Amino acid sequence: MKKTVAIDGPAGAGKSTIAKLVAEKLGYIYIDTGAMYRAVAWKVLDAGVEPTDDNIVDVAKKIDVRLRFVGDAVRVFAGDTDVTEAIRTPEVTALVSQVAQLGPVREKMVELQRSMAKDGGVVMDGRDIASNVLPNADVKIFLTASIEERALRRWKEMKAKGYEEPMDKLTAEIEARDKADSTRTISPLVRVPEAALLDTTGLTIDEVVQKVMGLCG
Ligand code: C5P
Repeated sequence: MKKTVAIDGPAGAGKSTIAKLVAEKLGYIYIDTGAMYRAVAWKVLDAGVEPTDDNIVDVAKKIDVRLRFVGDAVRVFAGDTDVTEAIRTPEVTALVSQVAQLGPVREKMVELQRSMAKDGGVVMDGRDIASNVLPNADVKIFLTASIEERALRRWKEMKAKGYEEPMDKLTAEIEARDKADSTRTISPLVRVPEAALLDTTGLTIDEVVQKVMGLCG
């Protein structure tokens, strides 16, 4: 039977790296829900409008966000534009939590996410997957790591993309985003009681993948 696997957790916990590898091993589709909120934030910046709540909702209503397979890789599209790389800039990261706290934005994205998962065979990562998007998911995992390790991972990831950001700035950015994501009114980041808690501090990617595969049965 094809399962649905929900992976939630704070920023920089390694969710997307792990979810992608696990999906590959299982032959499932990987759905990066953070990328969808990032695509809305990217579009707000690209349109050059003031990032007021009304303007953000307006952009979200019009945007056509899709995750498409190009070869083996999943790419993120806003309309016809491939925004896979553009959604990872510090500017998008700085705006995304504001975008993601708005009800109308979430309603649209959650509907899309549920329709992508309706036939099972998916690994979906985000903040509210087990608690809201797929409350009946077969496997629920809450992935986390110490703030120091998450900041270091983010630093390495950004450096590989050509952004050199000071560690203390990245740490502050991650903490601010976690606070915004955990304290917002609609679908905040929470660990549902039935989710397996997986602290990845000090573990290699391989070790975490093995543990998640074990949980997927
Ligand atoms: O996973 P990633 O860090 O790319 O997510 C970017 C942002 O999108 C998060 O900080 C959060 O504000 C938002 N998000 C969300 N719900 C999800 C996934 C991401 O609110 N399911």
